[in-house]
Amino acid sequence: MASSSIGTGRPKTRGIVLNSIRAARTISRIELAARTGVTPATITQVVRELMDHGLVVEVGRGASTGGKPRTLLQLNPQARYAVGVLLERNICVLVIVDLNGRQVARTSFPGTALLPPEKALALVAAQVDALIDAAGVARERVLGVGLATYGPQDRQAGVLLTHMPTAEWFEYPIAQRLSKLLSLPVLLDNDAAAAAIGEYWLGAVKQGTYGCLYMASGLGGGVVVDGEVYRGSSSNGVAIGHITVDINGRPCGCGNYGCLANYADPSAVIEQALNESSLGRRLGLDPGDTDVMTAFRRIATAADAGDPDALRLIERSGRLLGTAAVTMASLFDLDLIVLAGPSLAAAASLYQSVIEEEVQRRTFVRPAHPVRVITSVSGSDAAAIGGAVLVLQGELAFLELGTPA
Ligand SMILES: [Zn+2]
Repeated sequence: MASSSIGTGRPKTRGIVLNSIRAARTISRIELAARTGVTPATITQVVRELMDHGLVVEVGRGASTGGKPRTLLQLNPQARYAVGVLLERNICVLVIVDLNGRQVARTSFPGTALLPPEKALALVAAQVDALIDAAGVARERVLGVGLATYGPQDRQAGVLLTHMPTAEWFEYPIAQRLSKLLSLPVLLDNDAAAAAIGEYWLGAVKQGTYGCLYMASGLGGGVVVDGEVYRGSSSNGVAIGHITVDINGRPCGCGNYGCLANYADPSAVIEQALNESSLGRRLGLDPGDTDVMTAFRRIATAADAGDPDALRLIERSGRLLGTAAVTMASLFDLDLIVLAGPSLAAAASLYQSVIEEEVQRRTFVRPAHPVRVITSVSGSDAAAIGGAVLVLQGELAFLELGTPA
C-alpha cells in the first residue's frame, strides 16, 4: 500500500499521534507528549497540522492540575474512513468504519462460491462501490480496503498461496486486481489476525496481549501482542487449525497429518453429522453441498435447540477447539482468548462454555493466572471490521494530507 507523504516530513510521528488520540478518545497535548515520547513543541506543530486538515478537533477543557486547564483533543471520526472485506467462499461481509474504527455501514452476501478470481473480485468491487455510495461517504475520504481472507498468503505481494477454492486462485494478484477495480489501496490480511486486532481497536478488549480463535469455513488463530498483531516471519502465524491432534491421523491438504481442523472445523462436523447418526438426514444436509457454512449453521442451530446428536457434535468440536485454546495460552502465556468468526458465532455460548472448561482444566499457566474465554463483540463481522482497522492502523502512519480543507 504505497502512499507518499508531504508537508513536514513527519508522517510517522503523525501516525503515532493519531493512534494515541484514538486510543485515548480525548487527550491533552501535554498528555500526548508524555504518552508518545515526542517533544511538546513537535506535538504542538503536528496537532496544528492535523487540525488544519480537519482530522483532529478541540473538544473543551479538561480538569486543571494546578496550572491553566488543558484543552482536550479528539479525532474527527468523519474525516477519514476505511473499508473492510471478509472474503469467503460461503460468506462475504463488507463494512465501512470511521476514523475511530466504529462501523458506519455494513452489507453481506452469500460468498463467491467457486467463481474464478476475476469474477469473484468484480462481484466484491461492485458491492464495495454500492456500499460507499449508500453510506454517503465521500470516496476521497476512504483510505483503503482491508481484504481479510484465509491463508496461507503472501501478505506483502497480496496473493493467496492456496489452491482454494480452485487452482486459479493460487498466486492470483487479488489485492492488486481489487485495488485496480476500486481505485483504492487494498491491503491483504489473514482473517484470524484481522479479527483479533479488531477487538482491541473497538475497545472490547482493554488489554494489549491476547489470543483469538477464528472459525469461518476453516479454523485459524491470531495473537495480539502490545496492541499489534503477532506477525511471525511471513504473517502466517498461529495456524492453530493445523496443529496435530492425532499423530496417526489422516493426511491434511496442508502437508501435515492429523490436523485439528480435520476433526473440528465445519466440514468435519458436517461429515460427522452425515456419517454418525440420522442428524444429517434429519437436517436435510447434502453430502455434495459446497456451502459448508450454511450446513454447519443448521447443525449449530439444532444444537442450540437441544438436539442431542447436534449437541454431541458441537461439544466434540468445542473440546478440540479447547485444545487449540490451551495450546495458544500455553505457547504465548495468554490470559484471554476471544472467540470470533461466523461459525463460532453460530453456536457462541455452547463453544464458549466448553472451551472455557477445557482451558480452566488443562492450561499449563493455570497456577500463575486464570485464562478467560470470551466471545467477540463483532461475531460474524470480526474479520471484516479488523480488515478495515488494519487499514486505519497502517495508513494513518503514512497519511497523505494534501492541501488543508
Ligand atoms: Zn493441516
